[in-house]
Amino acid sequence: RTSVNDPYSRGTLRTKTVEDILTPLKDCFMLASSAVLDFSTMSEIMQSGYTRVPIYEEERSNIVEILYVKDLALVDPDDCTPMTTITKFYNHPLHFVFNDTKLDAMLEEFKKGNSHMAIVQKVNNEGEGDPFYEVLGLVTLEDVIEEIIKSEILDE
Ligand code: ADP
Repeated sequence: RTSVNDPYSRGTLRTKTVEDILTPLKDCFMLASSAVLDFSTMSEIMQSGYTRVPIYEEERSNIVEILYVKDLALVDPDDCTPMTTITKFYNHPLHFVFNDTKLDAMLEEFKKGNSHMAIVQKVNNEGEGDPFYEVLGLVTLEDVIEEIIKSEILDE
């Protein structure tokens, strides 16, 4: 049994993967890169309550950028600014991780990096065609911390 002062070495973070804790793609609040930042879109973003919004091109599985809600501070809805004008301007980096990434490695990545969100993908080699990257969902620092807290409580 490991030390109480070393919660990170207690199983969960070493064995669980990002795939176990991610928010599935179907539940992700995202917008198309073709969207226009008019009143209706901006209200939708505000009402979602999320601080980061993945932006996809053509289909939801094709995430190309990320919008931070704070990027909207200087946007006037009356200007109907194209989404891409804002995402290209801020150009926040997108982070991808593989589905089998362990939570301890993910936590280290989040501590190192500036972004606390990653897009989870896996190599899909089912079916006839060539293998391709399939996006499964997103994971944030919050999701990892939640696992740490859960394992702490269970351990008591
Ligand atoms: P926020 O700052 O937007 O509240 P957090 O990083 O605190 O986001 O994450 C809270 C939960 O919401 C996590 O489970 C995370 O996976 C999920 N989440 C974050 N952004 C989105 C989004 N755009 N759509 C759906 N779920 C999200």
